[in-house]
Amino acid sequence: MTIRKLSAGDIIESRCTKCREVLNHRIVAMVEGKVVRVECNTCNGVHNYYPPPSAKEAKAPRITVAGKARSTTAVPRMPRKDPAEIEREEWASLQPTFDYDKAIAYNMNGTYQVKRLVLHPSFGLGIVKVLIVPNKMQVLFKDGIKLLRCQFL
Ligand SMILES: [Zn+2]
Repeated sequence: MTIRKLSAGDIIESRCTKCREVLNHRIVAMVEGKVVRVECNTCNGVHNYYPPPSAKEAKAPRITVAGKARSTTAVPRMPRKDPAEIEREEWASLQPTFDYDKAIAYNMNGTYQVKRLVLHPSFGLGIVKVLIVPNKMQVLFKDGIKLLRCQFL
């Protein structure tokens, strides 16, 4: 910090304990390059060296206005698709995995399990999505999810 080499006898600004002001002082004693004791040029009192407050103020951290987090005006984009289209797409994506040989002909008195393939006379091949107690199930067909009757074991 101290660029100018100080030595005893130099004049330095210090707060004076008696005058209670920042005044010129003469350096009386130094330890390891630091001013320890000074003599006031005004009252001639000898006291410890107190750096002028301005030296501390200069060091005071500046309050920087950090960039605020961006206002959350951006709403996550939801694709505007109607549910039926999503269902048709799901069916299309699942369709390659369908094992037609395992499809069960739909029967309203039949019992089904989730992921079971169902062959419906009108809707075609579908896959059971949800079983709804006591007697319904949601089946995903090519045209979307249909609610069908079924039995539970
Ligand atoms: Zn003084």
